[in-house]
Amino acid sequence: MKVTFLGTGTSQGVPVIACDCPVCSSLDYRDKRLRSSIHLEIGEKSLVVDTGPDFRQQMLREKVKTLDAIIFTHEHKDHTAGMDDIRSYNFLQKKDMPVYATHSVIQQLKREFAYVFEEVKYPGVPTVKIHEIGSDPFSVEGIRVIPIQVMHYRLPVLGFRFGDFTYITDAKYIEERELEKVKGSKILVLNALQLNHHISHFTLEEAIELVERIRPEMAYFTHISHKLGTHAEVEARLPSNIRLGYDGLKIII
Ligand SMILES: [Zn+2]
Ligand SMILES: [Zn+2]
Ligand SMILES: [Zn+2]
Repeated sequence: MKVTFLGTGTSQGVPVIACDCPVCSSLDYRDKRLRSSIHLEIGEKSLVVDTGPDFRQQMLREKVKTLDAIIFTHEHKDHTAGMDDIRSYNFLQKKDMPVYATHSVIQQLKREFAYVFEEVKYPGVPTVKIHEIGSDPFSVEGIRVIPIQVMHYRLPVLGFRFGDFTYITDAKYIEERELEKVKGSKILVLNALQLNHHISHFTLEEAIELVERIRPEMAYFTHISHKLGTHAEVEARLPSNIRLGYDGLKIII
């Protein structure tokens, strides 16, 4: 399995529009963070978790030639806004794009992309095949996926485990019974927004504490704000089994 970090930034991305802070002014390519999502290559299959506003740019940068399915973590715009750009794959692959999402995410997609769900569609709009998921494991193109429910303030969000790899973004709290599903993962991706308390995201310290409890071989942090600090400064202070993700980072599991 190959995982590519398509984006590792929080909802505004880094740099933030009109911000002159040291992180937003940094020349380090690792301080340029598009909105968070990952691309997974498992055998011959190609999947993405989320399609944020930078989806088009991410697919171009990583030269993703085929896409077999999309799995959504939750309905926030920074995770869904790019769904219109699946049209290129609809045209190339000549089929509807399989989309895996919970009931509430599907309802939101129907509101935000109403034209995709009309009976009589305008020619050329994206076409999707919706698969509703819940708390039970499911299969995407023959790949087993275990959903992990996490809380993002009051909004339930799904993390996903694919074999030894678990991806969790936009979490502030994870119940014990859900953490049990994460245990044993070799690679764990977690959100770590910033240093100071936040109502709906783990801080750097909270994310580190969770890694210490789960004890994966390696953990990578994502969904990073400009308030966290520069990549180089923050990473230098982390234990050796925790790295900050950056856009374009690839890991083979
Ligand atoms: Zn988000
Ligand atoms: Zn800034
Ligand atoms: Zn969110």
